[in-house]
Amino acid sequence: MVSVEQTRAELLDGRTLAEQIKREVAEEVRRAGIKPRLGAVLVGDDAASAVYVRNKVRACAEVGIDSDQRVLPAATTEELLALIEELNRREDVDGILVQLPLPKQVDEALIIEAVDPRKDVDGFHPTNVGLLAIGRPRFVPCTPAGIIELLDRNKIEIAGANACVVGRSQIVGRPVAGLLLQRHATVTICHSRTRDLPSVTRQADILIAAIGRPAFIRGDYIKPGATVIDVGVSKVTDANEARAMFADEADKRLEAIKQRGYTLVGDVHPAEADQIAGRRTPVPGGVGLLTVAMLMRNTLQAAKARRGV
Ligand code: NAP
Repeated sequence: MVSVEQTRAELLDGRTLAEQIKREVAEEVRRAGIKPRLGAVLVGDDAASAVYVRNKVRACAEVGIDSDQRVLPAATTEELLALIEELNRREDVDGILVQLPLPKQVDEALIIEAVDPRKDVDGFHPTNVGLLAIGRPRFVPCTPAGIIELLDRNKIEIAGANACVVGRSQIVGRPVAGLLLQRHATVTICHSRTRDLPSVTRQADILIAAIGRPAFIRGDYIKPGATVIDVGVSKVTDANEARAMFADEADKRLEAIKQRGYTLVGDVHPAEADQIAGRRTPVPGGVGLLTVAMLMRNTLQAAKARRGV
């Protein structure tokens, strides 16, 4: 009988790597003998944003960074601008994080531009976006920085690889494409107007999905053996949908739906990707945790630069 070897995509573990990066940051904070401080601003009542800010504040405590959390349930653009001005002026604040998205009544672009570029640890200020674009990055946005770190530490070669990024947002798609280009990948950026998306993504040795549509990237979008980085985070509440996405690993997901009403899924169809990709990041447990770890690193970088350490 001919035996067909069944291989399964290796999971790239963001959790362990995030812990390692946080340990490295903690050690550097200790060695430098400084006490960095992050101003974390949460506006509105979005439950997911509140969880993200809580996780970031908790990570600060873990690595020895002080945090100053400001929660504004309802704020106008002017009130928020006044708060940013205060945090910009404060000598003891090294980094400023404004959790996005901001509520509709607030002018998001104006707020991002108001943050002092030297305290812009999210890397969203036009000055920092420009520095990244010309290949002289200062603060690199945290999710893209985490993706590059994950590729590097798993020894996945970027130089010369065909990399495809699906999504062109300012916070993920564009900056990660810029970083990959800087590292000598051949980069294709796709979006909602891309024609015949699977034929483009199937060329990619490194495929990055940052779309926000659950399990959108199916098996036929993936080149055999490719590295697939799944940035998306969506909630799936339907048990049948979850069963189709997770196949023989659906039990835990179905339990989560029963317990709390939803399970978190990425942009990549996990069961199908497992059959064809060489490696993939899980959701949760992949890119999300790295985002927080890289924010800690950016805050340390800001603190050292401001102190001339
Ligand atoms: P976004 O601003 O909504 O951008 C989505 C991008 O996907 C857009 O460029 C859009 O194209 C593209 N797109 C949408 N539908 C498409 C389709 N059918 N085919 C091809 N492209 C399509 O999203 P984002 O802020 O980058 O976030 C993307 C996902 O990542 C979300 O699930 C978000 O929650 C998650 N995220 C996770 C982390 C983390 O730390 N894990 C961090 C940030 C974001 P157009 O430009 O043509 O509209």
